[in-house]
Amino acid sequence: MNSIVLGSPVLSLLAAMLTVLVVGDFASTFFYHVPQHVWGKLHLRTHHDRRRSYWDHAVISGDPGVMLDGFLGAVPYIIIAVACCKISFFGAALGLILGQLHVWWRHTTELGWKTPVPVRNVCRALAIVLPEDHDGHHRNPEIEFGDLFRFYDAPARKMLVLLRTLSPRRAPRRRSTVRPIKRKTAVSTGVGRG
Ligand SMILES: [Zn+2]
Ligand SMILES: [Zn+2]
Repeated sequence: MNSIVLGSPVLSLLAAMLTVLVVGDFASTFFYHVPQHVWGKLHLRTHHDRRRSYWDHAVISGDPGVMLDGFLGAVPYIIIAVACCKISFFGAALGLILGQLHVWWRHTTELGWKTPVPVRNVCRALAIVLPEDHDGHHRNPEIEFGDLFRFYDAPARKMLVLLRTLSPRRAPRRRSTVRPIKRKTAVSTGVGRG
């Protein structure tokens, strides 16, 4: 099973590993995570269950719903990893292992983790999601998309808006259309005073 594609086993390993992480995060974000936020219930009910510690339910929970959400989110990474075995089996496996380690790491904010400044600087330079960033997604499910890389956040938010426009029944803020009417009423009351 010698899978040297790029002339060097190290280059092949790195290429397979990075492809699993970068393309896997892309596929998981745009084909699972964002559609779940628009049409799904499983992810919102499990990963964004505010009644429970997210360290507990994202990392150590044995609840079948929580595990199913985690598995479905991992399927895109696994598909890419299987495809990348042709480049480097160990690189693909390493990509999956690093992805899983990052799942555990990005949920440690609730345990009191604070990223040291040097690590923060390296991650910022590489656009890697910090636990503090992912904590933002748990506090506000409309922001901080991308499991591993922050450059997926902006396009993911755009896709979220687009999908909600295409299926308006899923748009969450219909009540906001009521507010301008209230304001007009208040203004006309003021005018009537004269
Ligand atoms: Zn999470
Ligand atoms: Zn989410």
